[in-house]
Amino acid sequence: MSPADAISVVTGAGGFIGGHLVRALLDEGRAVRAVDIKPADRWHQRFEGADNRRLDLRERAACEEAVDGAHTVFNLASDMGGMGFIARHKARCMLSVIINTHLLEASVDHGVDRFFFSSSACVYPLARQASASLAPLREEDAYPADPEDGYGWEKLFSERMCRHFTEDFGLATRVARFHNVYGPFGEWTGGREKAPAAICRKVAEAELSGFDTIEVWGDGEQTRSFTWIDDCIHGTRLITDSDVSEPLNVGSAELITINQLVDLVCEIAGVELKRRHVVDEPQGVRGRNSDNERIRRVLGWEPATPLATGLEATYRWIRDQVAAQRG
Ligand code: NAD
Repeated sequence: MSPADAISVVTGAGGFIGGHLVRALLDEGRAVRAVDIKPADRWHQRFEGADNRRLDLRERAACEEAVDGAHTVFNLASDMGGMGFIARHKARCMLSVIINTHLLEASVDHGVDRFFFSSSACVYPLARQASASLAPLREEDAYPADPEDGYGWEKLFSERMCRHFTEDFGLATRVARFHNVYGPFGEWTGGREKAPAAICRKVAEAELSGFDTIEVWGDGEQTRSFTWIDDCIHGTRLITDSDVSEPLNVGSAELITINQLVDLVCEIAGVELKRRHVVDEPQGVRGRNSDNERIRRVLGWEPATPLATGLEATYRWIRDQVAAQRG
């Protein structure tokens, strides 16, 4: 079967990473079925060249329809968001386990060749992230398990489900642990946005309205690394086509504090702003960075895009959204 005939299914295609993945696969000349629960007008990106379907993948029958005739399934569908969302909706995050379970079962029944699951850095134990300067997270650090409550447990459980579907039913599964992916067409307002998008929005609102202060969650000294969307898509494609069935980090190792992230966005916007630190909002772990030794060794992948470059493009896109909303 030529790549053009082999159907690739992308679930969560109406979301941030799913939309970018659909575009990359169409650019490669692949046949793509794009699936999301949201109505068409709420998809972040929607491409005429794809077979776009609105399905609720918590339903087993919907999963059967989604994977029928598929060669590869990329599961990016989940009910998630940034720290503000996952700290307040633990049960909803865990219910995404139904999506992945039904998709795995349907993929076995329909003879799918390859199944990709989008896991997260939130699977790593909290104790390894309790200080801003701890060692970067290696894949083997995930056990003994003590992941992020709710969301992280769902991801770790679903990783294991993938592994056991390979062992018991012979389905080839691949798993990436994404670390804080950012870029245009992501959530930027409404409560599901993550730190880079939230800070870009606050700086853009200040720039456009002339405010001189923005709110920052926590003391701003918590550390993170952020992965540019195109690097994430490249890593996802390499992992899916590889013969590596163990989970691999897809993350940047460029560590930065949230205060430095604010500095960077202010520099891009050409503004100087005061910060009001709000300590009673969810802040997540104190420090988190990705160790890329394994993925570099087995697949030769590492992120190619410096944070300043990706953030510039992200800021421009979010500023346009804020300006359009203001009318
Ligand atoms: P997103 O919220 O933009 O996209 C997820 C999509 O899944 C949404 O469009 C949503 O409508 C859809 N969805 C939810 N429930 C569904 C259902 N029942 N049926 C069909 N579709 C459903 O999220 P994203 O940032 O694009 O993340 C994609 C995947 O990567 C998720 O699994 C997420 O947990 C994982 N991940 C993302 C990041 C990140 O930084 N963005 C980090 C780690 C892991």
